[in-house]
Amino acid sequence: MTANMEMITNQSPLTDQLGRVHRSLRVSVTDRCNIRCFYCMPNENIRFKPRHEILSFEEITRFVRVVAQMGVRRLRLTGGEPLVRADLAQLVGQLSRLTDIEDLALTTNGILLADQARELRAAGLRRINISLDTLSEETFQRISRRPGLDAVLAGIAAAQDAGFENIRLNAIAIRSLTENEIVPLARFARDRGLELRFIEYMPLDAEGQWQAVDVLDGETIHRALEAEFGPLVPVAPPHPSQPASDYRYADGGGRVGLIRPVSQPFCGNCDRLRLTAEGQVRNCLFSTTEWDARALLRGGGSDDQIADLVRDCVWAKARAHGIGSDEFVRPERAMYQIGG
Ligand code: SAM
Repeated sequence: MTANMEMITNQSPLTDQLGRVHRSLRVSVTDRCNIRCFYCMPNENIRFKPRHEILSFEEITRFVRVVAQMGVRRLRLTGGEPLVRADLAQLVGQLSRLTDIEDLALTTNGILLADQARELRAAGLRRINISLDTLSEETFQRISRRPGLDAVLAGIAAAQDAGFENIRLNAIAIRSLTENEIVPLARFARDRGLELRFIEYMPLDAEGQWQAVDVLDGETIHRALEAEFGPLVPVAPPHPSQPASDYRYADGGGRVGLIRPVSQPFCGNCDRLRLTAEGQVRNCLFSTTEWDARALLRGGGSDDQIADLVRDCVWAKARAHGIGSDEFVRPERAMYQIGG
């Protein structure tokens, strides 16, 4: 059975075989990055995609317009590092004018944010996630194999000054590396009125070193936070597909979240699709198959053909990513080549 059944029009919702309706798209705008986090990228000998293979802003905008007609409402720009893509604010401007898109957000490592925060805000970006795994420059360099913590902190401050509606910090959780970061990061976020989310380390590192024992699980983080700050009260998610479990500190210190793709997978409510920087559509981070939207975008394909391709991709979505099961197969791509 394919998704291209009679009665389905290209305005119909993007539903998979389990009834999951897809409303969220992550768009990678580049596979390049200005740091080399070991959990994501190789340190050297990287073969980035040549410029001509990367989708243009017009191609991305057309793709988004097509999927918006099929019910996609939430859009996140990512990479690689999205802020290394020249003139990103121009793309933000184009996408923010698409009236069907209700939520336009960006994930960044923050290094170039001090220079770009105001311009991005003015172009229509509303929400921003900034990755911050540590407050120690030494640990920052162990992770990212480049200097840069001060630039990230300046980026966070600039984003606050620029008036973003929602600034969130994302911290990866890796055993034997970031345990000692939990409390300082939480205090940093509480002091600044920022929301912090910890995310379990997933098997998407380019060097293939991930092991289950490296995952600093959400339960351990939850215990560490409660031991320091007191009770955490669960907060209802704004929509069921939200990957994070959010909590508020009972002492009034704001909110904190846990994203537990390994210890508590949330595939059953997944509504996400991904578009890689070179125009491949994926129905899961761990997908081993891709659908070539670029061939249509560049080969005279119609909007209906693009819509059919996306519908086929969604229809083929697996029940779950299967990390930890005997059937689990790591995707060939690492995180930076997909778009986190
Ligand atoms: N460069 C941007 C950044 O650093 O936020 C955007 C892309 S990055 C791939 C997006 C997010 O994915 C970051 O928060 C990063 O920590 C997370 N990430 C990368 N590799 C990961 C992995 N193996 N497991 C869990 N999260 C990962």
